[in-house]
Amino acid sequence: MREDIQAYNNVLELIGDTPLVKLNRIVEDFPGNFYAKIESFNPGHSTKDRIALYIIEEAERQGILKPGDTIIETTSGNTGFSLAMVSVIKGYECILAVSSKSSKDKIAMLKNMGAKVYVCPAHVSADDPRSYYQVARRLHEEIKGSVYINQYFNQLNIDAHYNSTGPEIWNQTNGKITHLVACCGTGGTISGTAKYLKEQNNDIRILGIDAYGSVLKKYHETREFDDKEIYPYRIEGLGKNLIPTATDFDVIDQFEKVSDEDSAHTARELVRKEGLFLGYTSGAAVQGIKQFAALGEFTEDSNIVVILPDHGSRYMSKVFSDDWMMEQGFSDSNHELEDIKVQF
Ligand code: PMP
Repeated sequence: MREDIQAYNNVLELIGDTPLVKLNRIVEDFPGNFYAKIESFNPGHSTKDRIALYIIEEAERQGILKPGDTIIETTSGNTGFSLAMVSVIKGYECILAVSSKSSKDKIAMLKNMGAKVYVCPAHVSADDPRSYYQVARRLHEEIKGSVYINQYFNQLNIDAHYNSTGPEIWNQTNGKITHLVACCGTGGTISGTAKYLKEQNNDIRILGIDAYGSVLKKYHETREFDDKEIYPYRIEGLGKNLIPTATDFDVIDQFEKVSDEDSAHTARELVRKEGLFLGYTSGAAVQGIKQFAALGEFTEDSNIVVILPDHGSRYMSKVFSDDWMMEQGFSDSNHELEDIKVQF
């Protein structure tokens, strides 16, 4: 590349080094200083770019992947999109086995990013050969040189954040961070970031956000899997109905559960009060801050960093649709999206 032209060699060089942005009006009633790590500044618009690049480059270092080989994962969400993006640049085939529950928009996004998408029936058990888990496993066995990312059970998911998100937050706050707040899905984000931060200062409080309908909080408190905790909920990417090994429960100090409705309202409030157009789990994370504040977790001296995982554009037919909000029974009197009809 010409040295006198300031340009990145490709889009992957933009992964990581996301900004910290101070939260103002949305937290004005709480003591402490609040900073949001805005992961939608990654080129694939979510925190999952970090694990996609890290896990693929680790496989390259180990000699498992060479150009033309195949990356396999079971997700229609952010991880799938990030894996497809990294695969475009590095010349891999990307196969995603997704559930037939996934929206048409999501499947179209993945295909447009070059992934080959297998749509598998949603209402079969995980061990049914047609399930997306089994389809992915079978393809991995059949395709020589393929890598199965398996983000819920992959230690490299934690390592990706230990090596990037953790050091970034430590440096951006000059070591002054007192609390980390992060959503838990696979648990990779919170576990890797927290591990790094606790190594620098073991007093930093690590606060996890879980969903009502998920087992993580109860498991953290009892170390027992309680299937009575499990019921359907709306927020995608938050909480789980199994215990992921990509979560290190020992580094997390406390969990709070948040509801679909509160999280949806808070996602909209982030736009109105901070100009941050972010995803459903970003609303969940800030909702978690409100609940921890109500529990007396923060003081005037607290420096709280909250990780906000993805961008609002992925939720236009959900949280940012008034029709969807009404269908869920989540009225929002602050936010009217009625078209203004122009009269001539
Ligand atoms: N928010 C969104 C939108 C996600 O897709 C995920 C990943 N499932 C998370 C939060 C949680 O991140 P992690 O998997 O690292 O716990």
